[in-house]
Order: sequence, then C-alpha cells, then structure tokens
Amino acid sequence: MQVTADDLVGVLRGRGLRITAPRRSVCAILADAYGEHLTAADIHRRVEDTEGRSIDQSTVYRTIDTLEETGLLTHTHLGHGPLIYHLAGEAPHQHLMCRRCSRSIGMLANELEPFYAEITRLTGFVVDPTHGVIWGLCADCAATG
Ligand SMILES: [Zn+2]
Ligand SMILES: [Zn+2]
Ligand SMILES: [Zn+2]
Repeated sequence: MQVTADDLVGVLRGRGLRITAPRRSVCAILADAYGEHLTAADIHRRVEDTEGRSIDQSTVYRTIDTLEETGLLTHTHLGHGPLIYHLAGEAPHQHLMCRRCSRSIGMLANELEPFYAEITRLTGFVVDPTHGVIWGLCADCAATG
C-alpha cells in the first residue's frame, strides 16, 4: 500500500506538529520519491525549490525524524554516504553496493528469504534486510577484474 502525502501530514498532525508549508512539502516530496534514494540534504534542497525560498534545515530534519519515529519512514545506511530514506509501503529491499563503482542494486527482500533464513538457522540472528548493505562488486566490475 502506497503512503500518500496526506497520510504523512496526518501523522505529523497527530504528533502535535503544526502543519506549515515546508512540512507539507517534505510530505509531498517523500510521497513522490518512491524508488528514489533521497538523503536529508536532497529533501531539504527540494523543499527549498518547492517553496522558492530558503528553509531552515532543522525544520526539514525534524520533520524527517518525526516521520521516522512513527515507522512510516525508514533510513538505510547506503555505503559510506549519508543516510537515505524509504517510505513504508515501498517493497522492502536489500541494497547490494559495489565497492568499486559505488552503484547500488536493489534486490527484493523476499527473494533473499532463504539466505536470511539460513543465517537465522545457523546463528539465531534475525536479519534486518533494509537497514544496511551487502558490499561486493557489481557484475560489470566483477567481469573486468
Ligand atoms: Zn532502496
Ligand atoms: Zn561496479
Ligand atoms: Zn541506522
């Protein structure tokens, strides 16, 4: 189920935040960004583009934090870079990260279920597929040695 901007606005309101234009923009930008890997800085830049003026970074970052506390937004550590965000409702995916060209490849978590299950079977460890990356070489980089 896709999360809409209105869902996000409703959640912020429920948390007692005043729904200002920049906060509404954060919600709209996130709802439009399915499949993208936006950082907080990306979101801040888009809010400023939308609003046509400079917006306090802390307003944007606090909105992101509040949405994350509700579970509607999750972060991923995509390699060494800044955190990127996904909305709940986006298909949970494991990110494969090429250490040479820094390309990231998404694999649906349910396709990797046997792999996660084997880790749990062997160690009792329960994997969180969306939080981090698996490092390696993409097919192109692996082929060129
Ligand atoms: Zn992703
Ligand atoms: Zn590569
Ligand atoms: Zn984290």
